[in-house]
Amino acid sequence: MSTRKLVIAIDGPAGAGKSTIASRLASSLGYVNLESGAMYRALALKAILSGVDAASEPALLELAAHTTIELDPTPAGNRVLLDGLDVSQRIRERDVTDAASRLSTHPQVRVWMVERQRAMGAGGGVIMEGRDIGTVVFPNAEVKIFLDADPNIRANRRVTQAHAEDDPARAEKLRHDMQERDQRDATRSASPLKAADDAVHIDSSRLTIEEVIAASEALVAERLTKLS
Ligand code: C5P
Repeated sequence: MSTRKLVIAIDGPAGAGKSTIASRLASSLGYVNLESGAMYRALALKAILSGVDAASEPALLELAAHTTIELDPTPAGNRVLLDGLDVSQRIRERDVTDAASRLSTHPQVRVWMVERQRAMGAGGGVIMEGRDIGTVVFPNAEVKIFLDADPNIRANRRVTQAHAEDDPARAEKLRHDMQERDQRDATRSASPLKAADDAVHIDSSRLTIEEVIAASEALVAERLTKLS
């Protein structure tokens, strides 16, 4: 089997299990796991803190020109640094999630992100997860996985993750937010969420994490064998 360091793209909607699979796969392969969504979230946080409207592409680009976003992969996930400050927790909150989804619709903001994502993955040995990795960021990625799951199951996972099972109003809000974000990601004109033609689809609805990892590892092994 080849020892070549591949680029692995994992795309899919929220709650499909991308982050869990990407980080587990990265540690088993000794690869770096880069979460592209964290970059959109970090710029969204900066926009919130700076009073910049997520609807204004020119203002966002001006802001981006004075922004550094770093992803520091750790076994517990990506540490996210915005202008040198650790914002890993803050970017998971609801206001940032919503603003990230809104600002990611702007084509030039995406160009800014894609440039940085390509630079981060240039050396290979990288698993990048997001919405447009296999279609736009790394169209030549050696392994492309489109990880999906039934919308109800994805929403239930999000509710469990947020420990909102016993709070029907909060659970309903989480479901609604996810649906709205899915809809925006899938219907925007700039790089909408969609599977690359050559991506392998994995539906995680009825699979355990271990089963999804095994399927993904098999794809990587198959690719490495072909390259050797
Ligand atoms: O993956 P995550 O949910 O953290 O992403 C936050 C938002 O960033 C998504 O809802 C999506 O709108 C945007 N995003 C994107 N392209 C990516 C990754 C994330 O548009 N590659």
